[in-house]
Amino acid sequence: MTKGSLALRVPFYLVTITLACLVSTSCRARSTNTPTVSNTATIPSTATDLPPGTATPSATSTITPTATPDVTLPVSEILDGAKINCPTPMSLMLHTAYGPERMEELAQEIIDNRLQTLTYTDLLTYLLEGECPPENTIIVSLDDLGTNWLRPDFRHMIQVFVEHDLKMVVAVVTQGPQNTVIWDYLREIDAEGIEIASHTVNHFQLSALNDTAIEDQLHLSHDIICANMEKCPETIILPFGDGGDDPRVFSAGEGYYIFVIGIQGGLEFGGETPFFLGRIPPHNDDQALTIVLLQNTFGP
Ligand SMILES: [Zn+2]
Repeated sequence: MTKGSLALRVPFYLVTITLACLVSTSCRARSTNTPTVSNTATIPSTATDLPPGTATPSATSTITPTATPDVTLPVSEILDGAKINCPTPMSLMLHTAYGPERMEELAQEIIDNRLQTLTYTDLLTYLLEGECPPENTIIVSLDDLGTNWLRPDFRHMIQVFVEHDLKMVVAVVTQGPQNTVIWDYLREIDAEGIEIASHTVNHFQLSALNDTAIEDQLHLSHDIICANMEKCPETIILPFGDGGDDPRVFSAGEGYYIFVIGIQGGLEFGGETPFFLGRIPPHNDDQALTIVLLQNTFGP
């Protein structure tokens, strides 16, 4: 077992690769050398059965969660049994104010420092292989994209990374009438390796809500993403970074998400799913310093 690998190998043979791939497209390539089994656990969303692009929720969103809270994704069951304890990869939180120019500088710094960009979906693939991610990995996430209206700068910022063959995560707020053009775009960038994460329905401060409202924010946004993408999200990025210390957020996320993303803290992750991972904001003026900040905050 190599340094940084998990304390206990994941019992991959207990589950079909098909189940793993339902939450991770990047594992498809590995399906040929993975033992198969018959595990008939049910995935808790009928939305995944819909053809891509044909299920656009109406303005008031009539989609309701079809899963009961105690239904657990098979993948989360595997991970919960694996005694995971990994360092959190260097993780950066961006907003639209950062803009395309800084994005270009950041891309150059990532390339010059030989960092490998990951998505949380990629991270999940490592975990399912029984490994922690390598030390030189970085997860860059961009928050607050709307699925009803999209600020043009978001596209420009994402385009910079796509043109450099870098991966990133975008977090969508799913309130309001759904815009099919935006969902077309999100499916397009997903195909380029960009992960689409949930940023809830309304971007409320979760810890201020009652239990049912927290569940609605996590579950409805999950189901809207499932219905409009070819797959369901694995990641919820907390609005304002709020709720990372609220157990109700984690119980609401159980079975719906593998990763809950907050700010600061969370330098290691493990235990039971969903896992909590932290992020830091960039340096405002100097993206070389952003990398230094990341290296000083995360890792050994
Ligand atoms: Zn936000």
